[in-house]
Amino acid sequence: MKKINLAIALGATCAGCDVAILDLNEKILEVFDLVEFKFWPTAMDFKLDDLEKLKDKEVDVGIYHGAIRTTEDVKIAKILRQKSKVVVAFGACANFGGIPSLANMPYEQNMFDLVYKDVPSMDNPENTVPLTSVKIDDVELTLPGILENADALEEIIDVDYFVPGCPPMVPLIEQVIEVLKVFAKKGELPPKGAVIAGTKTLCDECGRTKPEKISFKEFISPQEVEEMDPDLCLLPQGIICLGPATRAGCDGLCTKMNVGCRGCLGPTDKVKDHGLKMISAITSLLEVDEEEEMTEEQLDKIVEKIPDPLGTFYRFTYGKSLIYKLHSEEKVI
Ligand code: SF4
Ligand code: SF4
Ligand code: SF4
Repeated sequence: MKKINLAIALGATCAGCDVAILDLNEKILEVFDLVEFKFWPTAMDFKLDDLEKLKDKEVDVGIYHGAIRTTEDVKIAKILRQKSKVVVAFGACANFGGIPSLANMPYEQNMFDLVYKDVPSMDNPENTVPLTSVKIDDVELTLPGILENADALEEIIDVDYFVPGCPPMVPLIEQVIEVLKVFAKKGELPPKGAVIAGTKTLCDECGRTKPEKISFKEFISPQEVEEMDPDLCLLPQGIICLGPATRAGCDGLCTKMNVGCRGCLGPTDKVKDHGLKMISAITSLLEVDEEEEMTEEQLDKIVEKIPDPLGTFYRFTYGKSLIYKLHSEEKVI
């Protein structure tokens, strides 16, 4: 069986996606049998030159993880596209902009100033900020510039397949290995645009019982629950869970631990905007029977109890949200 040429490139990443691949334990040996690594700088001694020197489409499968945050990320993504027959967006950051895209929110304060100067924990008396160029032996080198926004890979290059998750869970990576095996043996690939994860919602695979009618009076944090019912859905217990709008595929990794889902697998195909879908679903659950008697002020008070609405409803998908699309027309790439 001919080995598959594989490249794993990265952008604005925490490298958790690389660790997830290594988390395969002994299965990683199957990967080494199946592929020839042409580029994986996190795990092996590769430089960008090694990717640039390859012939166009010499890489069979190019995997990219991390968001597009710098001019260098754009460059790497475009080289990967040029060198690869198919490109896979791997992880929530590459799929939806992920956590880095939370910074795309139009804050009153300039994000760059906030991070490098004003954040309370910052000790930077000389206001040092990242250089845009550096001189080495009289040679001026331009350094990667930080883009105004962090974006999903698909905003920059054509993407063939999507593997969501923060990071993608081992069973999903095993599915990717199966796809690679079929590709190596028969040259067959799934239809373009396929998402390698579940098609249903997380609620469909979560083991908790969801009552037919759910209502609750206030949002609480798991640590505030006096006695958690381990079998009952988290929503009627007052804990926000994005399961109804989130794609299945993790087997309820968080909900099993009494923690509400934050949606790292992104929305299902039917959902256009992950956060909006959940906000509308959850507000409709709020004390349904008494809603008419509840004043707007009372409802506001309940909603105000959500400590971080952006991080709760868009933790991984803000870069793909309709709200972001509406205000991002002026973004600079
Ligand atoms: S998807 Fe999660 S694990 Fe992967 S790079 Fe982004 S933050 Fe890290
Ligand atoms: S809302 Fe959350 S806890 Fe409830 S069934 Fe769905 S995934 Fe499970
Ligand atoms: S429960 Fe939600 S946040 Fe947790 S791993 Fe699954 S999809 Fe991701």
